[in-house]
Amino acid sequence: MLVVRARWLLPIVDRPLLNGWCAIDRGRIAAVGRAGAALPFRDDAPLVDLGNMAVMPALTNAHTHLELSWMHGRVPRADRFTEWVRDMLRTRRGDPPGDDTVLMSMQQAIEELRACGTGLVGDVSNSLVSVAPLRESSLKGVVFHELLRLTAADADTVLEQGLDAVKRCGPSVTVPVSLAPHAPYSVSPRLFQGIRAVQERTPFLPSTVHLAESQEEVELLATGDGAWRDLLQELGAWDSGWTPPRTDPVSYLDQMKVLNSRLLAVHGVQLDDAALQRLKTRGATIVTCPRSNAYVGAGHPPVERFYRSGLQVAIGTDSLASNDDLNLFSELELLHRLAPSVPPAALLESATRSGARALGFEAETGTIEPGRDASLIAVDLPKSVVDVEEYLVNGITPDHVHWISQLIADSGLRAEPFREAATKLEERSRAD
Ligand SMILES: [Zn+2]
Repeated sequence: MLVVRARWLLPIVDRPLLNGWCAIDRGRIAAVGRAGAALPFRDDAPLVDLGNMAVMPALTNAHTHLELSWMHGRVPRADRFTEWVRDMLRTRRGDPPGDDTVLMSMQQAIEELRACGTGLVGDVSNSLVSVAPLRESSLKGVVFHELLRLTAADADTVLEQGLDAVKRCGPSVTVPVSLAPHAPYSVSPRLFQGIRAVQERTPFLPSTVHLAESQEEVELLATGDGAWRDLLQELGAWDSGWTPPRTDPVSYLDQMKVLNSRLLAVHGVQLDDAALQRLKTRGATIVTCPRSNAYVGAGHPPVERFYRSGLQVAIGTDSLASNDDLNLFSELELLHRLAPSVPPAALLESATRSGARALGFEAETGTIEPGRDASLIAVDLPKSVVDVEEYLVNGITPDHVHWISQLIADSGLRAEPFREAATKLEERSRAD
């Protein structure tokens, strides 16, 4: 048993605790409290004082594509989403990387995620190359094996191959693999239904879909025309037998019974209030990736309306092909700027508890509560901070993010018996 104390402790399930502490026993949170609280453990447990820091749960990055990390800086920013997709595909085809390059860039991305305080990821993969490096890392999460094919003829083959690939990965508690359809404009109704049937047989795994990211997607579904149709035709991926549903993306997926409480619907930039309500009714989570949306020319997501709808909101960075880095604190900073009326506490909950819940890890991580993993980070604070939640959504760089496990291991921090240390801390906090 060891007790960690800091200037601020953010349990997420409760308001931040000034001079808060948490007791850690064999890698799990045993107790949480603030200065002066009665101790539910022996008071000679050693205490490590982290000083002027904010201790919080590790972050959940609910939408990444680690296998695209090698494209970092190679696909320019775009004004239109289809323009970005065209450039991304040109990069992929024109300059295909070797396996070593792909693997090394993924390992660097995993290190970057850790350095930014991320403990859990929802990673989308076509090739499943991210499964092994993630399972070997200290991250947990879900790998979504993404399937895409608009042409109806070979939907069954695509599904069978996808299922075989998932099976070959084998079971894992820390990084399970599940199937996911790519998007309404790239998956045929038959493939959507096939994936749904598989999911009904595996009720414990979440799934994900890119949804209402761009105006071009809305146009294609409503009219069967526009820039997406042009691009799909150019790629030879268009099916002349595909009938546009002539409705919005959410209604379309709802008709196919794809929306449920295990679905992470990613982006939602184009969704109106009625569509958000429908997602909420179905219990889905919206995953917002605001910096990627800006990068690819999709526009800004309706962040205030996301929160006003009562939907569960999680946050992702998307891939390094459409973002400068994988720092989730930078997404929080943009979300706060786009939606100043959304309380910082709600944004922080999205970056921790909501992401963990959507990915099925709520019982283990995302909050500081007895029984949860001690997967905790600490953020340096300047002396002047009064509102710690506001500070944490104003942009935190990785050099100010530390893992508690590392800080404890750091020889510079001397543990003292809790009783003596706590008395000194009480005096110090009264003096502050
Ligand atoms: Zn994506």
